[in-house]
Amino acid sequence: MVRPHRLFGTNGIRGIVNRELTPEYAARIAEAIGTFFNQGNILVGYDGRTSNIMLAYAVTSGLLSTACKIYDAGMVPTPCIQYAVNNHGMDGGVMITASHNPPEYNGIKVMWRDGVEISGQQEREIEELFFRKRVKFSSWNNIGQRRLLPGILNEYKESIKQHINVVEIRKRHFHIAVDAGNGVGSLVTPYLARDLGCKVTTINGDIDGTFPERLSEPRPENLRKLATTVKAIGADVGVAFDGDADRSIFVDDAGKIQWGDRSFALIEEDFLKTNHGETIVTPVSSSQVVKDIADRYEGKVVWTKVGSTIVSHTMKRLKTKLGGEENGGVFYGPHQPVRDGAMSTALILGIMAKTDETLSELFDNLPRYYLVKDKMACPIEQMINVLESLTEEVSHLNPERIDGVKLWFTDNSSILIRPSGTEPIYRFYAEAKTKARAIEIVKEYKEKLQHLISP
Ligand code: MG
Repeated sequence: MVRPHRLFGTNGIRGIVNRELTPEYAARIAEAIGTFFNQGNILVGYDGRTSNIMLAYAVTSGLLSTACKIYDAGMVPTPCIQYAVNNHGMDGGVMITASHNPPEYNGIKVMWRDGVEISGQQEREIEELFFRKRVKFSSWNNIGQRRLLPGILNEYKESIKQHINVVEIRKRHFHIAVDAGNGVGSLVTPYLARDLGCKVTTINGDIDGTFPERLSEPRPENLRKLATTVKAIGADVGVAFDGDADRSIFVDDAGKIQWGDRSFALIEEDFLKTNHGETIVTPVSSSQVVKDIADRYEGKVVWTKVGSTIVSHTMKRLKTKLGGEENGGVFYGPHQPVRDGAMSTALILGIMAKTDETLSELFDNLPRYYLVKDKMACPIEQMINVLESLTEEVSHLNPERIDGVKLWFTDNSSILIRPSGTEPIYRFYAEAKTKARAIEIVKEYKEKLQHLISP
């Protein structure tokens, strides 16, 4: 959905390369970003997309024109830039990435000095500078300088090791299969796993911005090769990343793809064992399993709107240490409160090292839920009213209005109904102890909504 006077979407600036996101446009955006950072020190990095250098140079150019000092980190995962911005005392960071989007896309992500994506308020400040043409160019003799900042991949890898029991993991000699999806995930995790005494098998490890082997989003339908590989080589665990390696999806030793809220529940349980009663931050789209685990250890769950920056900012605001998303984002605050694929992998290896159980057994111990998804079209002009009417109709069930409408039922089942951000449709996510019950809930609420739509 095109929004006038907005550059930023739910996750930075994204667009199709050379159609929406041209070098000229990227440079102009960077002039506004540079003005916002007021001649500050900015770390710039990029992922493995075909347009990475083209856009990194354009962004660098825009930043230099506003007298910012640029440190160029080269090709790195997004969480690595985020770590280094904070670790090197930068004023901010810019990452050229379109994360999990198809290969024709690219984007610009802006980080504050703590490495977390800038807030909505800060995004609006940059937009204001851009649209009102309030960019402050430097004089000819004060143009910014550019330096290289090599070695941050290693710093980031070493920092992750500070948060796990390296000795304990090394003793186990795990075999891990890493599916980097031809993205920048191959730059850290295979080496980190090797440091942790693992035998490492990497697939789709060559960085190729055309994503020839699988789409960049680690969805189950894209991970069959990883699941087959794990089984074939007898690996203890498999992990797949998205294009910029902040999201991670795990495959257990039985070759089963485990969705992100289940791997997060394992990390959550391990965390709460030593951090009893802590608060966990997760979007309202996550499984009830996150709440079940929190209940076991008297933890509290704070449900948020869907979106990784919302999780990060909620963690910052509440000063909490752990967050997670169903799509494979794990925010481990003691390292950094942003999603981080290599950190998540290290945490899972750490959990495996503490037990004699296999990863599939660990997953089997979690409460089991069935998720059924569906969608339904609705005339765009009725979208808001229909949802309001539904909320009124079910007011006796205490509907939660965090993002769309969420209802929790007494049998531990739930339904989330969200208007899509990009099309005139509602999305339904029902979760229950049996598949039949989940199907029944979706059917019931689709009918309710259908009745509220005027023909
Ligand atoms: Mg990503």
